[in-house]
Amino acid sequence: MSIITIERKILEKNDAVAEFNRKNFKEKKIFAINLLSSPGSGKTSILEKIIELLKDKVNIGVIEGDIQTKIDAERIEKYGIPVAQIITNGACHLDAILIRDAFSTLSDKQISLLFIENVGNLVCPATFDLGENIKIVIVSTTEGDDKPLKYPAAFQKANAMIINKVDLIPYLNSSIEILKNNALKINPNLKIFETSCTKNIGIDKLCEWLLDNINKL
Ligand code: MG
Repeated sequence: MSIITIERKILEKNDAVAEFNRKNFKEKKIFAINLLSSPGSGKTSILEKIIELLKDKVNIGVIEGDIQTKIDAERIEKYGIPVAQIITNGACHLDAILIRDAFSTLSDKQISLLFIENVGNLVCPATFDLGENIKIVIVSTTEGDDKPLKYPAAFQKANAMIINKVDLIPYLNSSIEILKNNALKINPNLKIFETSCTKNIGIDKLCEWLLDNINKL
C-alpha cells in the first residue's frame, strides 16, 4: 500500500516537471524525441547516422543518459553537436527533472531537434514522461522477435519502432515479419522502420519522416 503511494507521488512530481519541459520545448520550437531500447540495440549508432544525414538541415542537440560513463556523449560530441550527459549512477531510467536540468545547460544553443537517449532498459524508461513530443523504441533483430510481447509498455507508448541490424537476419533464428506483427498487436498505430547502421539501410527513410514531423510543429 505505502509502496503504491510513494510510486504515485514520484510519478506525479515527474509529470508536473514533464509538463514544464513540454511547454519549454514548445516555446523554443524544439521537437524532442525520447529514444528507448535495451542495451546494445544501437541507439547511439542510429543517432550518429541521423546526425550525419541531418546536421546540415536542422539544428540537432542530444541529451545522453547513461548509468556510468560518458562514452556515448563523446561519440556524439565528435560531430560538433551540442550534447549534455546525464550519469544516473546506477538508476535505470531518466526522469523529467534530470531532463530539465540537463537541458538548462544547452539553453544558449540553437536546437530544433532534440534527441534524448534514455538509459538502455525497456522497462523503467517507459513509465517516465520526459516532456518529449514522441517516443521511438528501437529493437534489434538479435534480440528476438518476441520482444514486444515480453516488454509491452515501451511498445504501447512509442509512436515509432526502429528494427535495427536488419542485415544480420540471414544469421538469426528470428523473423522481421513476426517481430512487426507482435509489435502491431501491442500498438496498431506504430510507424515502423527497418535499419542497419553498418550497411546504411533505411536511415534516409527514417530521416525523411523525422523532417516531416519537425515541419508539422
Ligand atoms: Mg548508447
